[in-house]
Amino acid sequence: MFNFSIDYMTANRSGRIEFNAAGEKDLVAFFSLFGTVERDRICTEVLQRASADLKAEVAAFCETRKGRVPQLGAFRKLIEDLSPDEVFLILPSKNRSTVETVKLEALVAWANGTTSAEEVADLDRIFSTTLAEYDLVVPSTDRRSRIGNARKADRTCRFCKRNRSTGATFESNAHAISRGLGNVHLLLADECDECNAAFGDDLEPHLLALLEVPRLFLGTCGRSGLPRAKIKGGVIRNEGDLIFVELLQDAPLMQDGELTFEVESEIAPVPENCYRTLAKFALSVIPEGALGNLKDTINWVRYGCRPDSTGELPPVYTAIVPLEPNPSAQIALYIHKSGLSDLPHVVCEFRLGCYIYVFILPFSDLDQGDINFLGSERFASIFQHYAAFKNWKALDLGSIEPMSRTTTVRLRQTE
Ligand SMILES: [Zn+2]
Repeated sequence: MFNFSIDYMTANRSGRIEFNAAGEKDLVAFFSLFGTVERDRICTEVLQRASADLKAEVAAFCETRKGRVPQLGAFRKLIEDLSPDEVFLILPSKNRSTVETVKLEALVAWANGTTSAEEVADLDRIFSTTLAEYDLVVPSTDRRSRIGNARKADRTCRFCKRNRSTGATFESNAHAISRGLGNVHLLLADECDECNAAFGDDLEPHLLALLEVPRLFLGTCGRSGLPRAKIKGGVIRNEGDLIFVELLQDAPLMQDGELTFEVESEIAPVPENCYRTLAKFALSVIPEGALGNLKDTINWVRYGCRPDSTGELPPVYTAIVPLEPNPSAQIALYIHKSGLSDLPHVVCEFRLGCYIYVFILPFSDLDQGDINFLGSERFASIFQHYAAFKNWKALDLGSIEPMSRTTTVRLRQTE
């Protein structure tokens, strides 16, 4: 069996297909649809045109294999539904930063004549303002990678600063982003067992509870597989292709074409613990050299103490954006190039499917303390790709007052 996957992007959809080829011939047949295969060399064109010929070839390919690979049925329909000669992209499957995704979307729009070449060229100008100030770090979550020191004897825990000779152990696999957020592969070597257990028991459940509904609808897999949650009078389960609402008692759920239910998370999330968890993900993936200026951040994340009692937390900005789905949550960091600036030292982006959270890694020695930077015009001029999304909402994750355990979900029947 040959397992492989590719990403596609059309004018209004993007995604990934995974395919278990029955053999080499099968693999060659697939890639021949989108390019040429000569001996051991595969040349796939990124820009594809949905011609009548291509649609027929894709349909024939998928038809004979859909029994074995059910997702090919959906892929066939996707290609069939494209307008005649619409341009779409076939890409190697990998995690892409928001910067890359926005650029690729512009490329599709340009190729389909819905945006001008000037506007595409303008994108480089847009990103150049960010990349002139910040280095971008985008760790990959789609293959096994362990950040930090390979040898246990060389490890120092990023959070408690202990090593083996001062009592730390490094036996368990510490995930850089919670396992419960779909991250299987991205691990942090330099996190000791005690810190790992403390984060897993005391911090991460808060963010998981805050993201209960998104996880449920996105089908984010945790240790026990697909998500399920309690609702009043029953349970709701994501089974991959379908979401089941199971009622243990009669309750009038459906009214006037609207299905309403209350999803109950296991704990009442404490906002500050959610922020600390997001910051923990950032500290897990940040290059080691940056940690020296983040001692107060580390103390706050690990032990909950803010550097001074008035240390206010900046708001976290959140939006729903049309990004490719991904089985795992993602983290990306913008680290200021010089550090000698009135701009924040580290700006972070956390993403779960279409839910995006942008936040400052607080309490860095290199910050001047403008806690309202993210909402400012300066932010909009430097991070123009974020400013392009209009539905941002400021979230106050500075409070220690627990939020509600229940979220009301309303589903409306569509025509
Ligand atoms: Zn530790």
